[in-house]
This record gives sequence, C-alpha cells and structure tokens, in this order.
Amino acid sequence: PTLPELDAELTGCRACPRLVAWREEVAATKRAAFAGETYWGRPVPGFGPPDAALAVVGLAPAAHGANRTGRMFTGDRSGDVLYQAMYEVGLASQPHATHTGDGLTLYGTRITSPVHCAPPANKPTTAERDNCRPWLARELELLRPTLRAVMVLGGFGWQALLPVLADAGWRIPRPRPRFGHGAHVRLDGPVQLNLFGCYHVSQQNTFTGRLTPEMLREVLGSAKEAAGL
Ligand code: SF4
Repeated sequence: PTLPELDAELTGCRACPRLVAWREEVAATKRAAFAGETYWGRPVPGFGPPDAALAVVGLAPAAHGANRTGRMFTGDRSGDVLYQAMYEVGLASQPHATHTGDGLTLYGTRITSPVHCAPPANKPTTAERDNCRPWLARELELLRPTLRAVMVLGGFGWQALLPVLADAGWRIPRPRPRFGHGAHVRLDGPVQLNLFGCYHVSQQNTFTGRLTPEMLREVLGSAKEAAGL
C-alpha cells in the first residue's frame, strides 16, 4: 500500500482490547473543556509527507490530545512545545497545532509513534507495544527510500524503534546504543541513518525544566541537518 492507504488501514485497528476500551471510553466521557467536541477515539496515524527525510518518534497519543483531534501531538501541551520548536527550526509552517483543519504543514518530517492508541496513564504495556510494532515497521519501510534521520522522544520510543530498524535492514551495534538526551548514533544499512535521542516533550519534562525549548531546538536542528533538510 501507499502511506495514506496504510494510515487508513491503521485507523480501523482493534488489536489491543485494553486500548480500544480506553480510547473509546475517553472519547465518550470527554474532558469538560472539550464537551462540545467529537473525539476521534481511534488509532492515530503518523502525520507528515510520505517522502519525509526525518521521522520524529514519540510514545503514544494523549487521551485528550491526539485521541481527541486525530492528529499526532495536536491539541495538547506536549504538541505546543514540539510544534513551536519545529516551527522555529523551519520544519513546520506554523507554531500551533489545534485541529486537523488548522493549516499546519510539516516540511520533510513525519511524526509517528510506536503505539498508535491512547493508553491509560500514558503507559502502554509491552504486549501492546509489540502488537503495534508491525504498523511502525510498515510505515518506516514505506519511508525508507527517503529517510535519513530519526529523532526519538524518550526511552520508550527508543527501545521500541531499535528492533524495527533492525528488521528493516539497519545494523544495530552491540551492545545496543542507549537512550539519552543528545544521544546520536549512525546506523549502517540500506542508507546511513542518523538516530537522535531527545527527552520526551511531556509536561513532566517541560514543566520541570528537564527539557527546555533550547535543548529541544538543539536536537531538532541536528536531526534536521543530518536529514539534509
Ligand atoms: Fe492497533 Fe496499535 Fe491501537 Fe493496538 S495500539 S489497537 S496495535 S493501532
């Protein structure tokens, strides 16, 4: 399939009973501030062009963010931080992401995640991560002709991504490269792939100053450069 076809197929996935129940329960009960909205309540596909040179890999949709709006990192504080930084380094057309019709365009960058449904407490189980792995694998396979760099937000995404990259033909060094903020690994394979680690843009990290806007911009800028963007 093409990437849009894969995205369409993904939105019908019901492979994880706990996540199907949660995403639908959140969509039915809603947060008071969004009571008048119709929640997406389904798997959230990757966002960005099908010929992206850079992939940004997060964790999973947020219950009242992407699970509400149907687009990655759209409509929550994590997304505010991420898109602001992407705009500042020239990877996004605007600094805000509020809903799918807001006009946001990403330049050469695709945002995705190893788990495509909102998990309770933002914590997918390893079984759920493994269930969702083929979706990420198929997405990266379709991006492979143009993909030159990946920026991973947080250790969960890092752990989930390495086996997928190995399956797609990239050689993962032994011992496995460890996640850290600012980690940078070059992987040989179909083409050389530059892998970058960055703390996740969750409020837990941004409110405490563990991840500052400058730190985020710095890694994004390096990833952008390595991707040739
Ligand atoms: Fe399907 Fe992934 Fe959602 Fe599980 S998390 S139901 S595998 S899309």
